[in-house]
Amino acid sequence: MKQIFFTPGPAELYFTVEGHIKKALTEQVPSISHRSARFQSIFQEAEENLRNLLSLPNNYYIFFTGSATEIWERIIQNLVAERSYHYVNGSFSNRFYKIAEELGRSPVIQKAEEGSCAVVDPEKIPSDIELVAFTQNETSTGAAQPLDDIYQVRQSHPEAIIAVDAVSTLPYIPLDYTQVDTAYFSVQKGFGLPAGLGVWLVNARCLAKAEQLAQQQSIGSYHSLPSLLEKARKHQTPETPNVLGIYLLAKVVSDMLGKGIDVIRNETKFKAGMMYQTLSEHDNFTPFVKKAEHQSRTVIVTETRKPAQEIIQKLQESGLFLGSGYGHFKDKHVRIANFPTHSREQFIQLIDKMNAIL
Ligand SMILES: *Cc1c(COP(=O)(O)O)cnc(C)c1O
Repeated sequence: MKQIFFTPGPAELYFTVEGHIKKALTEQVPSISHRSARFQSIFQEAEENLRNLLSLPNNYYIFFTGSATEIWERIIQNLVAERSYHYVNGSFSNRFYKIAEELGRSPVIQKAEEGSCAVVDPEKIPSDIELVAFTQNETSTGAAQPLDDIYQVRQSHPEAIIAVDAVSTLPYIPLDYTQVDTAYFSVQKGFGLPAGLGVWLVNARCLAKAEQLAQQQSIGSYHSLPSLLEKARKHQTPETPNVLGIYLLAKVVSDMLGKGIDVIRNETKFKAGMMYQTLSEHDNFTPFVKKAEHQSRTVIVTETRKPAQEIIQKLQESGLFLGSGYGHFKDKHVRIANFPTHSREQFIQLIDKMNAIL
């Protein structure tokens, strides 16, 4: 049976993707040279559409990578000589912290319990910290850091670079890019695209820091910020990139622009509201994140009274594919993606079936 994927990545494809893939094949997009004018125009289209959808300021660059995991490594290599500060409240935020350690830096960890968000206390952040890392939406637990917490750090530590993992929240989250320095995502979550492409949004401050760092130590050879910029100025990438992925991103973001970001945001809130209401009323389910202000609207995680696998199995029989709990929560949680491609009707269908589980 064809499933609707409510898994938080890879996720249900944006509903227009199938048509765009067919058109790309007809136009032989996967065979074109990444040094051709045709590719440059695809790159430019993706860039301009994203800039519009996200209201990205002019002092930001858009770079393409292999994944968000790659961007974690690039951020440390290009932007941190010694010390970064990491808010950690789950598997993804912890992985970023570990990468900083593995690359020989001395990262500082500020931990919060899984299912909650860190209390942001600027006084605890060392005054000479180079970079502060937030995971705005911790996909493993469904906890979302309020944006004002992030902006507070900009006020208290204006010299620090602020990095925001927005992988499972964009394009929903209305991030004020003037209050941070870099944000990033991979396309198989909220954008509903096949995996294999990361998008790195970087402001001019980050470029300056990378250039300065390169004077004193290696910032790596692959996808260093200066090398990405040199090519991006020509609407190109250093390597042979995921051309099809960039093409599909341009098209899907264009479709999202046609729909309107406000409509997408309002629908997201509406569907999340319905789901949290259902969870709070249903004996089988309890939202894992208790504080309403920390409950993610794009990745909804629920504890289950029955074994999670049983519930997932039951819903699969109706063609509804939910995510299992992450890591050690595998048997205890169910994760539900609420991405732009999921319609209200699909959510109502899901809620009906969840309510039917006794
Ligand atoms: C999925 C995810 C990542 C990693 O993305 P990849 O595309 O697998 O590299 C990083 N951070 C968060 C919050 C995620 O949800």
